[in-house]
Amino acid sequence: TEQLLEEWEKLSLVGQMSAGIAHEIRNPITSLKGFVQLLHQSKDFKAEYFQIMDAEFNRIETIIKELLMFSKPQKANFCERDVKDIMRHVVLLMDPQAMMKNIQLKTVWDHTDAVVSCLDHQLKQVFINLIKNAMEAIVSDGEVVIRIDQDEEDVTIKVSDNGPGMSPEMIAKIGEPFFSTKESGTGLGMMVTKNIIQNNHHGSFHVESEVDKGTTFTIRLPKEFERQLR
Ligand code: ADP
Ligand code: MG
Repeated sequence: TEQLLEEWEKLSLVGQMSAGIAHEIRNPITSLKGFVQLLHQSKDFKAEYFQIMDAEFNRIETIIKELLMFSKPQKANFCERDVKDIMRHVVLLMDPQAMMKNIQLKTVWDHTDAVVSCLDHQLKQVFINLIKNAMEAIVSDGEVVIRIDQDEEDVTIKVSDNGPGMSPEMIAKIGEPFFSTKESGTGLGMMVTKNIIQNNHHGSFHVESEVDKGTTFTIRLPKEFERQLR
């Protein structure tokens, strides 16, 4: 019965996901259809409409991209990588945006190597998702602290920000598909992140947050595990 229950939970999750995706993609498509109709009567068509159409296409594209990250990789290329190297790369990538918003990206770690067996492009995506959320929460003027530690078994990655934090109700919704408080958020970033960490890397994902204080995301990755995608 336990297995049956698990099956059932998966099925209902698929149902919820499908409903969410259908809803999220129907909106931009409905608006695009309207513009295409107008384009047909081209005397009413304003040049600005192209910008809106472009934005709506981009939104669909973003949703599809994030959903593709959620699906399991066709061929799992696990490799031994130092998490600090991946993080260093991501911080360089995010630095220009951080500087523009006057946000400090601080890294705190020692010189020992933190090697895990991983899908490195997926971990990169996870780090980008967390740092991006931290910076979006801060809006401007603040700091994001990234800590990496390790013991014999695990590597621990913490991403903290001094942004507005989250209420317990919000914390409970983190990782739920399409939960977003942002005007143009997809609400898929944390779902993808959780899936990559928990299912693909057998790790753990944890949030601590306090309103007006800030938020810390903690990820633990086991150094060794049966490299089989669940
Ligand atoms: P999106 O960024 O597209 O909104 P996510 O799944 O990445 O979707 O995040 C879901 C929601 O979780 C965000 O809209 C935000 O409300 C909340 N959230 C995530 N990270 C943070 C953070 N560091 N500080 C405050 N709120 C956060
Ligand atoms: Mg996000």
